[in-house]
Amino acid sequence: MSIFGKLFKKEQIRTRFAPSPTGVLHIGSARTTLFNFLFAKKFGGKFILRIEDTDLERSSPEFEKDIVEGLQWLGLVWDEGPGVGGPHGPYRQSERLDTYAGYLEKLLDSGDAFYCFHSKEFLEKEYQEQLAKKKNPAHICEFRKFLRQDAEKRLQKEPAIIRLKVLAGVDICFSDLIRGEICFNSNTLGGDFSLAKASRPGEFLPLYNFAVVVDDLLMKITHVIRGEDHISNTPKQILISRVLDFSLPQYAHLPLILGPDKSKLSKRHGAVSVGDYRDMGYLPEALVNFTSLLGWNPGTDKEIFSLEELAGEFDMAKVQKGGAVFNIDKLDWLNGHYLRQLEPAELARRAVPYLAKQNFINLGNYDSEYIKKVITLEQPRLKKLGEVGDRVGFFFKKPQYESELLVWRDMLFRDVMASFETSREALEAMPEENWTRENLEKVLLEKAKEAKKGDKGRLLWPLRAALSGLEASPGPFDILDILGKQESIARIDIAIKKLK
Ligand SMILES: [Zn+2]
Repeated sequence: MSIFGKLFKKEQIRTRFAPSPTGVLHIGSARTTLFNFLFAKKFGGKFILRIEDTDLERSSPEFEKDIVEGLQWLGLVWDEGPGVGGPHGPYRQSERLDTYAGYLEKLLDSGDAFYCFHSKEFLEKEYQEQLAKKKNPAHICEFRKFLRQDAEKRLQKEPAIIRLKVLAGVDICFSDLIRGEICFNSNTLGGDFSLAKASRPGEFLPLYNFAVVVDDLLMKITHVIRGEDHISNTPKQILISRVLDFSLPQYAHLPLILGPDKSKLSKRHGAVSVGDYRDMGYLPEALVNFTSLLGWNPGTDKEIFSLEELAGEFDMAKVQKGGAVFNIDKLDWLNGHYLRQLEPAELARRAVPYLAKQNFINLGNYDSEYIKKVITLEQPRLKKLGEVGDRVGFFFKKPQYESELLVWRDMLFRDVMASFETSREALEAMPEENWTRENLEKVLLEKAKEAKKGDKGRLLWPLRAALSGLEASPGPFDILDILGKQESIARIDIAIKKLK
């Protein structure tokens, strides 16, 4: 017997992302969400967010918040789900327990499910014995033959779990949109697998595969798009769908995301959470573009895609089966690209939280025009917003540096001192109203030409170093222009003091 997924051609496409709030939003989950989002948008369908929080011990509202905020930040907004509601809610599994109980009841009634009273110890012993005999471990539970009324009497005294009666030797096949036909034999599923466990006496909490099947049906999910680690859950979910007389969604299992060493991407490869990338100063546009290319490519050389473009061009047929390598250099490159595309005012707005985090500005009181001037200067070189403090912090706070930084090539301290006297005098003589980048350049270059061997660095390096406190920074004219006369001269005086 074969069971094939059916395509819902006439129905509206409905996809879902269904995270468990037992950890922060992982980059792989962001990719899964994105592909679900794009597939729904491409066909004018709906994208649903469902929170799978039946594991009460491991789920936490903090993780749910991280996931929800991460998705919002990426711009992957859901049409139905927590916060927005929808016709098939509630969208948190912990709020749907009565629904699951109803379907469990149905299966107990039909005899497709039953109460198993075997202890953990018994199951472990059985498992070890089967392994020792080199058999496929499978719990074919003898309680499947019990009459329901007898089992329910026993239930008053003994704990139980609810299992599905799995028929032996059945082929379960489905057509995966990415991998083609995939078949499992029911003998490899571990026997009568569990659907629900006791929570309190007489009350059962649905387990993962059961809740997923019920929710996907009731939420009218047409396409289940998820990571390939879920392939092994699929035959179980198909069997549950079958006994409940549910139609099957279409499945698409996405390739793994790999680190540079081609092993599954994990913490030892570096940051893996969306929040970490946000904190480092990657733009959501860059992260969306980057994750879209983890396992998908448009079949052309085009690499830059906005979310809107992706929704138009995304094609499940072009998703690869093999693992997708996470290449941080590519992410950096994309991020630099998007940073340079931003309007100065927008770039400044986005830089504000990063400057505030390093205490260069106060969130309650800052000069956005000033930030705009400063940030525009660094825009061509900026790779991540997280670097912004290190690069332009000196515009907000007097720099700390060693006096050696002020020395250009073979200059001695007394040469540097003389250089400062020249530049200070020239700047002091310039009236405030003439203090423009153009004038500053003209006057200082004139003076610089008079330096020994015509080496302009003898005037400009110490000046730039005194103003920025950095080995590398924008040029001295830009810095002088932005800092203004008073602050510039104050910084030269600090440098002179350091040399004494
Ligand atoms: Zn049993």
